[in-house]
Amino acid sequence: MPELSEMLAHGPVICAEGYLFECERRGYLQAGAFVPEVVLDHPEVVEGLHREFVHAGSDVVEAFTYYGHRQKLRVIGKEGILEPLNQQALTLAARVARETGTLLAGNVCNTNVYEPGTPAVPEVRAAFEEQVNWAAEAGADLVIAETFSWLGEALLALETIQAAGLPAVVTFAVHKDGAMRDGVSPEEACRRAEQAGATVVGLNCIRGPRTMLPVLERVREAVSCEVAALPVPYRTTEAEPTMQSLRDPGRNGEQAFPTALDPYTCTRQELGEFAAEALALGVRYLGVCCGAGPHHIRAVAEAAGKVPPASRYSPDMTKHSFLGSDPLIARAYQEYASNL
Ligand SMILES: [Zn+2]
Repeated sequence: MPELSEMLAHGPVICAEGYLFECERRGYLQAGAFVPEVVLDHPEVVEGLHREFVHAGSDVVEAFTYYGHRQKLRVIGKEGILEPLNQQALTLAARVARETGTLLAGNVCNTNVYEPGTPAVPEVRAAFEEQVNWAAEAGADLVIAETFSWLGEALLALETIQAAGLPAVVTFAVHKDGAMRDGVSPEEACRRAEQAGATVVGLNCIRGPRTMLPVLERVREAVSCEVAALPVPYRTTEAEPTMQSLRDPGRNGEQAFPTALDPYTCTRQELGEFAAEALALGVRYLGVCCGAGPHHIRAVAEAAGKVPPASRYSPDMTKHSFLGSDPLIARAYQEYASNL
């Protein structure tokens, strides 16, 4: 299996994320705490989802340890399952990666306790170290450090990944105000992560395609390493640029995040268009975060010129009984459909 940087030198790399939302939607994970106990309770669901995403075009199998860190497990009173949960997540992802010839990625993420200059800092560093070490022991090809709104926290994660000698993909989550919580811009955060040794830097989560692109353009200009873009597949707008800020007029203006985002879901075409625009900017590590379905991943992969196994089933409307153009489609039905 080639390394991440070697793969990127030859063309775009696709990475499916969004395991948390998809397992929740399927009824195997509780919204609220959002802890991935599913890797222990229903490993077949997680393994199946890894396989679906690879089938749809993901070149990376990301171990589902998002929010499987010490701080989150403490909140649900289950610190005792920290190590088995991480080991199991890595085992499931490794099995699929090795069988499909894809990259195995370890994962660390926002701890939601980090604050600069507080006693939380060494605690956060220790949490990253234990997770990164488990990933290294499992033979991870890289570690994804994701969804950071603090540059300082991302740099702590990056340090531990580098200490383990693994390539790092560092992605930042940009909230409504457009800045990192340390006060720096997303492009400056990416520049600092590049200087600190990240292989790939960029953006993931929080913003939909339309509101991630302008930030992405600035990131691409600010760094010289490869850039990552993994938006959420939701129709965010300039006024409501993040999935957290979406307010649904169909439900009395209630906040749609996190379990009522369905009406905002992007089509696969919108994700394909996003991927094409990102590629035109020079962004070559592409994926989709919270809300991603295999159809979104396939659209991104196909926009990048790939033909994943799922492309065998990509739409061919010529054979449609009413909308098709095939000579075997009855003309009366085609005409009937033109009035539908
Ligand atoms: Zn996400």
